[in-house]
Amino acid sequence: CGIVGYIGRREVAPLLLEGLQRLEYRGYDSAGIAVTSPKTGTLKTVKAKGRVRDLEAKVPARFKGTTGIAHTRWATHGAPSDVNAHPHLDAEGKVAVVHNGIIDNAADLRRKLEADGVEFLSETDTEVLVHLIARSGAENLEDKVRETVRLIEGTYGIAVLHADFPDRIVVARNGSPVVLGIGEKEMFVASDIAALVAHTRQIVTLDDGEMATLKADDFRTYTTEGTRTTAEPTTVEWEA
Ligand code: GLU
Repeated sequence: CGIVGYIGRREVAPLLLEGLQRLEYRGYDSAGIAVTSPKTGTLKTVKAKGRVRDLEAKVPARFKGTTGIAHTRWATHGAPSDVNAHPHLDAEGKVAVVHNGIIDNAADLRRKLEADGVEFLSETDTEVLVHLIARSGAENLEDKVRETVRLIEGTYGIAVLHADFPDRIVVARNGSPVVLGIGEKEMFVASDIAALVAHTRQIVTLDDGEMATLKADDFRTYTTEGTRTTAEPTTVEWEA
């Protein structure tokens, strides 16, 4: 339902929780957050059925990091629960994904992955993305995500963190909105500009079939085929 992500220098958890609150008006049944720990590079996640404030109450005081992704879920596959809330992680805790939309061929992909020995933790359609990205043999994160979205039928707006690539967030869009917020040595991503305008008015809206890499001081956009696309930020007017 709702996505927020941030990479920069500020403590990310409060920023993401505030962003999720700005998306509450859209409705949701659960929420979650994942951050990259600056010391260890590992991913940490907290998820909760219920309101963003229920999630906030579960986030430990020392939930430190300056890169993270967060989600409000409107369940389509699997009941609302802590486990089914996003972000979803692979068994090694290296890949975290938040997803808006519906993966139509999830059951088929899941069967194949399970036949290959992959254990699923949730009932969501989203979780196939995590395992496909984690198992991809591609060298860089962009190619891992590109390989994965090519196997997907359905709609998605996704944001991906990978412990081996802690300097970036990779996002992709097909049928579910993804907007980038361009800041000063910090970048934002969201499913809705309402989550961004408190921080920046410089916005890039992704098209269907488009992906982006966000780093703290740089971003680039390209198609799922890998061709670079030009993305000039536009300044949005917004009455706060
Ligand atoms: N289909 C996904 C799920 O059920 C995402 C739903 C959403 O867009 O929030 O978990």
